[in-house]
Amino acid sequence: MAGVSAAVAEKLVRLGIYGDADLLLHLPLRYEDETRVTAIRDARPGIPAQFEVEVVSSEVAYRPRRQLVARVRDATGDLTLRFLNFYPSQQKALAPGARLRVFGETRGGFFGEEIIHPRFRVLHGDEPLPDRLTPIYPTTAGLGQSVLRKLVQRALDKADLTDTLPDALRRRSATADFGDSLRFLHQPPPDVSLADIEARNHPAWRRIAFDELLAQQLSLRRAYTARRARGAPVLEGTGALTWRLLDTLPFKLTGAQQRVWREIAADLAQPHPMARLLQGDVGSGKTVVAALAMLRAVEAGHQAALMAPTEILAEQHYRKLAAWLEPLGIEVAWFAASVKKKARDAWREKVSRGETPIAVGTHALIEAGVEFDKLGLAIVDEQHRFGVQQRLALKKKGQSAHQLTMSATPIPRTLAMSYYADLDVSVLDELPPGRTPVVTKLVDEGRREQVIGRVHDACRAGRQAYWVCPLIEESEALQLKTAQETYERLTAELPDLEVGLVHGRLKADEKAAVMAAFAKNQIQLLVATTVIEVGVDVPNASLMVIEHAERFGLSQLHQLRGRVGRGIADSACILLYAQPLGETARARLKIIFENSDGFEIARLDLHLRGPGEFIGKRQSGAPLLRFADLEDTQMVEEARAAAELLLRDYPQSAEAHLARWLAGKEELLKA
Ligand code: ADP
Ligand code: MG
Repeated sequence: MAGVSAAVAEKLVRLGIYGDADLLLHLPLRYEDETRVTAIRDARPGIPAQFEVEVVSSEVAYRPRRQLVARVRDATGDLTLRFLNFYPSQQKALAPGARLRVFGETRGGFFGEEIIHPRFRVLHGDEPLPDRLTPIYPTTAGLGQSVLRKLVQRALDKADLTDTLPDALRRRSATADFGDSLRFLHQPPPDVSLADIEARNHPAWRRIAFDELLAQQLSLRRAYTARRARGAPVLEGTGALTWRLLDTLPFKLTGAQQRVWREIAADLAQPHPMARLLQGDVGSGKTVVAALAMLRAVEAGHQAALMAPTEILAEQHYRKLAAWLEPLGIEVAWFAASVKKKARDAWREKVSRGETPIAVGTHALIEAGVEFDKLGLAIVDEQHRFGVQQRLALKKKGQSAHQLTMSATPIPRTLAMSYYADLDVSVLDELPPGRTPVVTKLVDEGRREQVIGRVHDACRAGRQAYWVCPLIEESEALQLKTAQETYERLTAELPDLEVGLVHGRLKADEKAAVMAAFAKNQIQLLVATTVIEVGVDVPNASLMVIEHAERFGLSQLHQLRGRVGRGIADSACILLYAQPLGETARARLKIIFENSDGFEIARLDLHLRGPGEFIGKRQSGAPLLRFADLEDTQMVEEARAAAELLLRDYPQSAEAHLARWLAGKEELLKA
């Protein structure tokens, strides 16, 4: 950055500040009121205040530890200043007779009122009090507030703070002026309520939050428009294949599935690439919708690919699709690490010649150098579980193909409207009929024996169960060890049951063998790590035990629980927890206990944690929303409407706004 030393520049970068534009938007965390002086007599414990004092004495004391202690006074009383760490320069400044302005919170000490580590400044002659509140900025080690304040001041003086919102829009939403808001937030006058401004509901904050949301909307809507300008094959079909599939299925599509399928079919018939997110709670039946979309591509003479993040999940898709589609005479190619090279090469050949219309796989599908002859549709299941690189590779591969992503992690509406504004969203908001609701139980770890008894009974009655091992995030090795031990213990404790173990470190074919055995009820109790979290579908499994449930995140618990309740038997999910429970863990368990609707759980989770976790690596490198609050649905909606208006009627304003907010960061938003 210009005008600062390399050392300062480096620290600024740590704060995400690369230039003046970033400095302007580096807004205070809070403020201190140095505009008035409080008499020592009027000091209130715990309330920050400023005092103007004279040093009476100062000394370095050694008990209970080395510290600098100064006695100071004003006309109304005296005060002790205590420094547990100090520089010789501070000791010198506190010479008897020196006049100071001291800022801090008093508390009653053994020797009377004192302030620990006050900020102070030596007064030379008459110095007027500041007429603005003092901003306290977020900062990093070695970068002082005064440096930041000077830099911000300089940026404010130089900057063009012209409002980017056209007047018409500002009049409509009665928003504060941008420049005024910014100046206000950096240097508020003393008469504002600190509570208001620190709670961020002052109009100035609201303006900045709105601008931030608007920038996000503009950027994503622009990406959306750019996509609509690209070409993609029109995938229209006779319906011959889709009808035949629907005929052979043992069930009828739910109303939601029909609606979503119509939405997708309409997109596929457009001459530009679809980018649609299909959201549906676990078990809502996304796979069959994917199958219909793939068949539509095939009917139109194109190929389709389906990719899933884990081998277990990909294999399950493969089996299901093969079972559905091969009777219709449609071959399904299968790409995964466990597929032998020879077989994979053969598939690759056929896919590249266009002989095999459908390919299913893990990321092996992109990594094996599979070139499609005529890829018309790429479907990605649980996209957020793929790495950024894999996603970019996939994107490249399907530049002109239609894209459908599927997710069972319900995204709260405001989040979908903001972070996913470049996508169209379809929601499967209805579960297929005949699902038995899962009864959730919270059980103290001390009652583990009873739980084992319950597992035993369920399995003896012909049902199956999952036993999910505790999550150990710090160490995969430890996680593995725990899984192994749990497996051994349960095998010993339940000698008349067939117990299986599946975890992430098994070789792909071993994993597949265990899952196949479980699917066939050759294994009654499956001990598992979270590898079973997504997608696994074994309807006869009706009981799930999750050990140390307090360690899991909400969406994980919801996903895990979704593995049961898929058949006709009464299902239960037992959450074993260990005391003592932290506050957040308790809140999470309460939410999962009280709610079964994934969207509601997601909404509560957003409230608990903020948006970061939902969008995973999507925004890697790019800042999350810093000022806007996604729970403010109304503001998100206003920003969205404003973005549409700007793009349509005020393109120059849109450009100026994006330049101000996203200079250089836009690329990052697209990954
Ligand atoms: P998810 O959305 O979690 O991927 P799946 O596609 O795996 O859900 O579907 C879950 C189960 O429900 C599967 O066994 C599937 O065959 C079945 N299923 C899907 N749609 C229906 C329906 N309309 N009626 C009955 N069962 C259905
Ligand atoms: Mg699925």
